[in-house]
Amino acid sequence: MERLKAKIRDIPDFPKPGIVFKDITPLVRDPATLRLAVHQLLHPFLGQDITAVAGMEARGFIFGSLVAWELGVGFIPLRKPGKLPHDVHSVSYDLEYGSASLEVHRDALQAGDKVLLIDDLLATGGTALASCELVEKLGAQVAGCAFVVELDFLAGRDKLDKYFVHSLLHYS
Ligand code: IMP
Repeated sequence: MERLKAKIRDIPDFPKPGIVFKDITPLVRDPATLRLAVHQLLHPFLGQDITAVAGMEARGFIFGSLVAWELGVGFIPLRKPGKLPHDVHSVSYDLEYGSASLEVHRDALQAGDKVLLIDDLLATGGTALASCELVEKLGAQVAGCAFVVELDFLAGRDKLDKYFVHSLLHYS
């Protein structure tokens, strides 16, 4: 995991003064660390009959698509408002810096689906909890949530106590 950590850089004062942003773009630029991250993300879910992977806009699309490909299942984009063209379900939530909504196509999932949620980073947990709610609104089951980075000091895991949470790297 030190190989992954070495490819994540701190960007001070982004997107606002006082925030130290974890930038994962060097990790995804490097084929070896990208592959390692994808395999480590999906590892606990092997043999669990996952039927779909959902990823949160935007960096969840990168890791989520690759995890879906490796598992041999389809990918569902959870998008910011107004981006999805068909009928949607929407959930609003608080973010580390502000508030936001996520949307999913109503016909993306159904009862019986078992979904793995993927994002690059777990901070306060608002985004992930909203994503779990979207999946459940469609009658599907959340198999778990997997993140490359977890910011332990923001306690997002506490918000997700109903769910299995898997993170590759922890920052305290
Ligand atoms: P949360 O809802 O507070 O857990 O914030 C997590 C969401 O914000 C994820 O979709 C992340 O991509 C994004 N995010 C928050 N902080 C960072 C960061 O430092 N680096 C990358 N993404 C971040």
